[in-house]
Amino acid sequence: MNDLLPLKPLPEPNDLTRPFWEACRRHELRIQRCLSCGRLIHYPKIICPYDHGTEFDWVRVSGRGTVYSFVGAYRAFHPGFQPDLPYTIAIVELEEGPHMMTNVMLPPAEVEIGMKVEVAFEDINEQISLPKFRPAGAP
Ligand SMILES: [Zn+2]
Repeated sequence: MNDLLPLKPLPEPNDLTRPFWEACRRHELRIQRCLSCGRLIHYPKIICPYDHGTEFDWVRVSGRGTVYSFVGAYRAFHPGFQPDLPYTIAIVELEEGPHMMTNVMLPPAEVEIGMKVEVAFEDINEQISLPKFRPAGAP
């Protein structure tokens, strides 16, 4: 990492999101599951949006999905992102159903809706690994 560049803002795990981020650190993608109705939920919530259940566990999902939508970022909203331009902000539909806002690790011009992708974790520090996506089957 270049010490002269401003650092990017990072996620700050809390009691609700800590299981997600701890799993990411182990390179596991885990999604909240409502113990009342069994549905998978993302992003983490304190109340199930389907049946108002309040008890959850965290299930490991495949990490496979498809690009549901995306946008190219050509200007940095924070100086820490300047070196990444242009980059791709995407909504990935996980194979198990939930949608996840993330990055696809390709320039926007190389991304297509419906593209098959798989999770690839970017280790940032001792606490945070970011779940990003790359084309499925990429080396
Ligand atoms: Zn539920």
